[in-house]
Amino acid sequence: MKVLAIGAHPDDIEIFMYGLLSIYKKEGHEVFTIIATDGAKGGAITGKKLARERANEAISGLEKLSLPIFLNLPDGELGDELEHKKIIKENILKIMPDLIITHSENDYHADHKSLSLITKGVVSHYIPILYCDTLMGINFNPTYYVDITNYHDSKKEAVLKHKTQKPQRFVDLFELMNSYRAAQCNAPKGSYSEAYSFIPSFPFLDIREILPAPLKLRLFHIENQHGFL
Ligand SMILES: [Zn+2]
Repeated sequence: MKVLAIGAHPDDIEIFMYGLLSIYKKEGHEVFTIIATDGAKGGAITGKKLARERANEAISGLEKLSLPIFLNLPDGELGDELEHKKIIKENILKIMPDLIITHSENDYHADHKSLSLITKGVVSHYIPILYCDTLMGINFNPTYYVDITNYHDSKKEAVLKHKTQKPQRFVDLFELMNSYRAAQCNAPKGSYSEAYSFIPSFPFLDIREILPAPLKLRLFHIENQHGFL
């Protein structure tokens, strides 16, 4: 199976989708990654110099998964031109994945929202799309949780490759989000889970068949139960 992750900025795939992609990779699937914007506005330095550094950081952050494809669309202005939609569509169709993972249209950043809407607009009728958690989980109702505890260390390593972004704050952020999502499933303290949502539309009503196993069901208030409660 071909799985394609599309992130708006050079560090988004690592922060929001790394654990699930690692599971797909481990299961022997082909993982592809596309980074939509050049990230030229996210840092102390800006412009082409920052874009180059961030591209190298993304290559090294994603080295265990795939060599990213850079669309180099303008940071902060994604979707402003009709051409952006065309470029995104062409690049998705070149890969023709079985599943796309991208941002939620409720996410905080304008580029994340635009990318989500563009992706849905151009291919949702023939490729199923799984939406990743929003920053801090705001306005996001997960329908699928996956245990990424075994990939926590490699996710952390990947996020820390983004040196221009003062990355420790993003490690703190994903640890908070992923441990909260794990606790929602009553997984024991020290567990990490990424949360996703899937919106059914014809002919993709139920895509569990192509998703890795969800978190184990753990009852609570049971003696000797190894859970959060
Ligand atoms: Zn971003």
